[in-house]
Amino acid sequence: MSKTDKTRPWWVRLADAPMVTCAPVHDHRFGPCTLTEEVTAASASLNRRLSGCHWQATSFYLFDLGGAGGAGEWAFIRREDRRRDRRAARRELRAHRHGR
Ligand SMILES: [Zn+2]
Repeated sequence: MSKTDKTRPWWVRLADAPMVTCAPVHDHRFGPCTLTEEVTAASASLNRRLSGCHWQATSFYLFDLGGAGGAGEWAFIRREDRRRDRRAARRELRAHRHGR
């Protein structure tokens, strides 16, 4: 975990890579989709279920929280992976929205 990570709230870090560190959870019992494009403190959850659509941390994010901090090469490889995943995630997210 880097220095900047320590100063950023958890939900900001969670928003780093939609679909990787967080995934949308849909709940339409109370009305139309309320999922926000931006992950905010109010629309993100680590493990509790919010009513309405929200972002929930994935096991990937939770694993990262526990931190293989300073695990050297492995951490570096994981970062590279994540960068690629993030781009793919953005594309998927866009495709998903437009397909609605
Ligand atoms: Zn929804």
